[in-house]
Amino acid sequence: MTAKILDGKALAAVLREEIRQQTERFTAGTGIQPGLAVVLVGDDPASGVYVRNKETATIKAGMKSVMKRLPAETTTEELLALVGELNADASIHGILVQLPLPRHIDERRILDAIDPRKDVDAFHPENVGLIAQGRPRFLPCTPYGIQQLLIRSGIETAGKNVVVLGRSNIVGKPMALLLMQKGPGGDATVTVCHSRTANLNEVTRGADILIVAIGVPRFLKADGVKPGAVVIDVGMNRIEEDGKARFVGDVDFDAVEKIASAITPVPGGVGPLTVTMLLNNALTAARNAAS
Ligand code: NAP
Repeated sequence: MTAKILDGKALAAVLREEIRQQTERFTAGTGIQPGLAVVLVGDDPASGVYVRNKETATIKAGMKSVMKRLPAETTTEELLALVGELNADASIHGILVQLPLPRHIDERRILDAIDPRKDVDAFHPENVGLIAQGRPRFLPCTPYGIQQLLIRSGIETAGKNVVVLGRSNIVGKPMALLLMQKGPGGDATVTVCHSRTANLNEVTRGADILIVAIGVPRFLKADGVKPGAVVIDVGMNRIEEDGKARFVGDVDFDAVEKIASAITPVPGGVGPLTVTMLLNNALTAARNAAS
């Protein structure tokens, strides 16, 4: 068996066009242009690339993009002051602070200070609580992108054994929450694994759908996958190979694609969908502010 490739890039293009049209209609009807502020502290090259991608996508969707670049030595208090200004700015509907922040900054205090109505990453405890209760204000970007990829690829989740490898607040935990909710793209029986999971391969081999988000290049091998399983690779790891820098996922793609029924590539799988769902949340924030 050779796996079907789940083309996140192509789906992202379709969804972004839908969001652009919805934004156009919203702005025509209300006179309000959704505004998204992205805050970048320091000069991490990978974060710089992610932030530029977000800026370009925001503008293409017909939204206002506001970039705030701060030096690496910015203090927690200074960053809190900027978040306060953005919270108070009525032309800004969504605020995103690019992670990771420099180590001396209190990340938790910063994320908690973002107005939950503008928290387009859905990291604020209020928004996480709403997601957990199945009545989300914003959907977590990467997990929601994966859920949409499954739905729009015709992959049923109801009644399936889904294993999520990784328990981070950004991917693993909210992914599990979405999959266990009632309704389309949910109703799954979810198992969450992490670095302390015993007999990991045995657990992952029980999965009909396997979602891998651990940040270890090519970690999941073919012997950890049930033949015919659907494999979603969230990993985005920069490695040097044959003298060249490249990005690889958390899945050993070449080996796993031979036994999976469907698999996401890296790059071009989950990544483009994450940015797309950020735009979706920015539009939701503007709509909520207008109503
Ligand atoms: P993270 O916060 O570092 O969390 C990693 C998780 O994986 C932790 O729960 C950890 O377990 C678990 N883990 C690590 N090594 C393991 C091992 N050997 N066996 C089993 N579990 C292990 O990472 P993250 O933010 O979720 O990101 C994961 C990956 O996804 C990274 O490559 C990141 O770049 C990528 N990512 C991509 C997107 C996208 O849009 N494509 C978005 C976000 C993240 P413990 O909890 O026990 O430590």
